[in-house]
Amino acid sequence: MDIEQFRKAGYQAIDRICEYYYSLHNRPVISKVEPGYLKEHIPLTAPEEGEDFQVIADDFQKFIVPGLTHWQHPSFFGYFPTACTFEGMIADLYATSACNPGFNWSSSPASTELEALVMDWACQLLGLSPEFLNSSGVGGGAIQNTASDSALIAAVAARSLYQRNYPEVSLQDLVIYTTTQTHSLGVKAGLVLGLSVHVLEVKAEDQFSLRGETLQAALHEDEKLGKRPFILIATVGTTSSGAIDNLPEIQQIAKNYPSLWVHVDAAWAGVALSCPENRERCHLNTINEFADSFCTNFHKWGLVNFDASTLWVRDRKHLTDALDVTPPFLRTKHGDAGTVIDYRNWHLALGRRFRSLKLWFVLRSFGAEGFRNYIRKASPLSISLNQVFADFVTKSETLSLVTPPSLALTVFRLDPKPKSLDQPPLSLESLNNLNRLFYGRISARNDILLTQTVLNGVHCIRFAVGAARTEAPHIQQACDLLCKEADLTLEAWEQTTLDEGKPSVSSI
Ligand SMILES: *Cc1c(COP(=O)(O)O)cnc(C)c1O
Repeated sequence: MDIEQFRKAGYQAIDRICEYYYSLHNRPVISKVEPGYLKEHIPLTAPEEGEDFQVIADDFQKFIVPGLTHWQHPSFFGYFPTACTFEGMIADLYATSACNPGFNWSSSPASTELEALVMDWACQLLGLSPEFLNSSGVGGGAIQNTASDSALIAAVAARSLYQRNYPEVSLQDLVIYTTTQTHSLGVKAGLVLGLSVHVLEVKAEDQFSLRGETLQAALHEDEKLGKRPFILIATVGTTSSGAIDNLPEIQQIAKNYPSLWVHVDAAWAGVALSCPENRERCHLNTINEFADSFCTNFHKWGLVNFDASTLWVRDRKHLTDALDVTPPFLRTKHGDAGTVIDYRNWHLALGRRFRSLKLWFVLRSFGAEGFRNYIRKASPLSISLNQVFADFVTKSETLSLVTPPSLALTVFRLDPKPKSLDQPPLSLESLNNLNRLFYGRISARNDILLTQTVLNGVHCIRFAVGAARTEAPHIQQACDLLCKEADLTLEAWEQTTLDEGKPSVSSI
């Protein structure tokens, strides 16, 4: 493809992307293809002769689009939102056109300098302490691939620091602290580093938040066993239920354990800190006072298309002490002088994408106020739309909340209200079976997408608001549809329990 062919194919690609977005709401949310569907359309080896680009572009529409789950669809309420913007897409196009793996300042000065600057913009937007600013010269931030990479990097830095301070301690005794609600990134960091993970229990009555006393008890217990907890991965806004660990209590305990690194994973909820009204609930002051590292994904709720996981550390030296390997071919005048940031020493890989362009375009185009409005409600991303859904669940005769709604996430289950006081309630096992049936019905539909979770043995369903095109009518549609599916589930359950002679719902 030459430059003029690229111009033509590029215009067509943009036109087709526009058509995709115009037609999105009419498409099924979920792809209904069967595993292996693509093998019927795409040969098992690359073609020997080059093909005409128009045919390739058309095959994308024919074979790939039908296999997509449409995360930007207004009725996508699964997992977590991946709000993306056209500004971000254009930035990605420019970034890929420059195609520079800016690992050192000298390898592409604009790439490093823009990242250092926009990470400071984002740091201020979220209200993080000035200690995390790149301009502080001590702390700083870098864009990582994902929150999992960010947590792994924090663990690598914390481990290396611990080993330098306690060279006599064997690796076998090092322990990573997480809770039962921590994202899989905690256990994964343990797997990758070959270290043990102590998963702390959290309680439903604490809304699945880690309490100080649980941490204290674990620290005592491990001390007795000769174990060395060196990092706690705390969460602000867990994936399952949006739980927020009790950071002020954790701080009180952790201050007696200065060698315990505290990493705050706020992958989904962190961008809500841009709005001052969310800061207390998310313990911003405590984060600012004592977290060693903090991560949020702008690529979830934060308007930047994948990937843009922002990681800040209070002391960049802990990253570079752990990760700086400089063979002769990577030495540069500025790097040797220590006058520039070489981001390759702030993450695991060498090369890195020019991702700061996305953040730069988005934050400029929206402005801080526009960004906050977006998080709040405006029309799209919406704590208020989630409240509408949570109110619906609260008023419903058949559904109930499992935990209080957290920001833009509601966790609920089918839980029919007893018809009379003297009937025994359904057992947890029966309720779980009922909810499996309910979720089975919901997931068989292709006009809405919700995901499920289990909270301390309770089977539940998650409703995550935040797809950029979700408006009030889509929430209403979801309420109507869930109401109907709830009734149909109860009818079907009724039928099977009658057949099997189990306690029926109508008898409760
Ligand atoms: C989504 C999520 C993650 C994982 O994000 P990746 O960037 O895909 O690794 C981690 N923690 C929380 C709380 C999340 O919501």
